[in-house]
Amino acid sequence: MCTFEGMDIKHNLEEFNKTLNGRDCTLVAVSKTKPVSDILEAYEAGQRVFGENKVQELTDKKDQLPGDIEWHMIGHLQRNKVKYIADFVSLIHSVDSPRLLRAVNKEGRKAGRKIPVLLQLHIAEEESKYGFDKDEVNELLEQHAFDDLPNVEVRGLMGMATFTEDKEKIRREFRSLAGYYKELKDRDLPENVRMELLSMGMSGDYKIALEEGSNMIRVGSSIFGARNNSN
Ligand SMILES: *Cc1c(COP(=O)(O)O)cnc(C)c1O
Repeated sequence: MCTFEGMDIKHNLEEFNKTLNGRDCTLVAVSKTKPVSDILEAYEAGQRVFGENKVQELTDKKDQLPGDIEWHMIGHLQRNKVKYIADFVSLIHSVDSPRLLRAVNKEGRKAGRKIPVLLQLHIAEEESKYGFDKDEVNELLEQHAFDDLPNVEVRGLMGMATFTEDKEKIRREFRSLAGYYKELKDRDLPENVRMELLSMGMSGDYKIALEEGSNMIRVGSSIFGARNNSN
């Protein structure tokens, strides 16, 4: 992937908004590792939805920034940290186990709200160790597990493709997730499970994701520039 010199955040956002114009797709600006000043620059250009992958960083930034920002948690979430984001987070993309679902439900109840989440599916043939398999989600549905999770509101699915140059492999993985999303959409789902959001696509693969039906892309480096660590 190329690195960008002299990143112009406003310009980059405009380019994305042009690409997404007329599409039903939300751009989540992934601001992890980037300073508050960069987020403000994006905010001033009209961006309101931001994604972070660490709880501490998310809450630190939230405290310093305008209250109308919608904060999305996109990274692996530990159960004991849900409490720090439970009362304000707009969407947790990375719910990847039944135990985390129960923790989110518990903190949602304490916070007096239903917490919107996506179920993260394991679609990459390699790498990511996180995520449900389709079978596990099917099982949760068959067991009526969501009836016991009234403070969780499942709004869709999230997935990450393998980090590879092989575009056909990426496409296959996204297509598989989109297929499962459609399959669930056609099913009779519990009241707190809706299939409205399909979060797939990052800087390197969002074009393929859009072609395969994504309606929420999570873009960091193409907006804010390369990060100088492996986050
Ligand atoms: C970092 C991250 C992104 C954004 O990655 P870029 O390649 O910088 O666009 C998207 N999703 C998740 C889960 C991430 O951790």
